[in-house]
Amino acid sequence: MAVTTSPRPRDGQPVEHVLELPPGVTLPPGVDELVARPSARRRRTASLTVQDGRLVMLVPAGLNLARETELARILLERLARRRAKQVQTRSDEALMARALQLRDSYLPQVPVPAQVRWSGDQITRWGSCTSADASIRISTQLCAMPQWVIDHVLMHEMVHLVHADHGTGFHELLAACPFTERARGFLEGWAMATSTPPDGGQDLLPGS
Ligand SMILES: [Zn+2]
Repeated sequence: MAVTTSPRPRDGQPVEHVLELPPGVTLPPGVDELVARPSARRRRTASLTVQDGRLVMLVPAGLNLARETELARILLERLARRRAKQVQTRSDEALMARALQLRDSYLPQVPVPAQVRWSGDQITRWGSCTSADASIRISTQLCAMPQWVIDHVLMHEMVHLVHADHGTGFHELLAACPFTERARGFLEGWAMATSTPPDGGQDLLPGS
């Protein structure tokens, strides 16, 4: 349990440093390291924020490493509990409602989907669309991912209600949607880190 580097500049101000994860604690998806950033203005509280793919823990300056690590454990466990609760609330009804909301905001040209639901048996894809009956299925693997990633997959599949392939027309429609590149990067990173879904299977890569 060591800080990789904890340099103190000459003026004595603490600087941010990478923290090793406390035992038994994992990082949430989408971030690859935990960084402690001491602040002289912060007196008592610590908090977590995500910046550039890193989880940053803002802490009061002057804490020793053991205290920082303990704070990280408390905050990460709290975050994990909140995320577990969030996953439980991901129902088909909420997913359908979200799809309709996104369609209204960004894709009014596409037909209203007849059915949008979670599916546990889509091992090789993040989502699928059957335009014949206007139904969309989203992999339950996405349950644990941030809402903006789920939104991206929903919008991607709704565009398939109009364009079956990933041609120019498809990308023109999807261009109206936010977070597309960011979400794609997130999912590619996730697939690489977890080896899921199996290579070439995801319905999000151009030409797939
Ligand atoms: Zn697709």
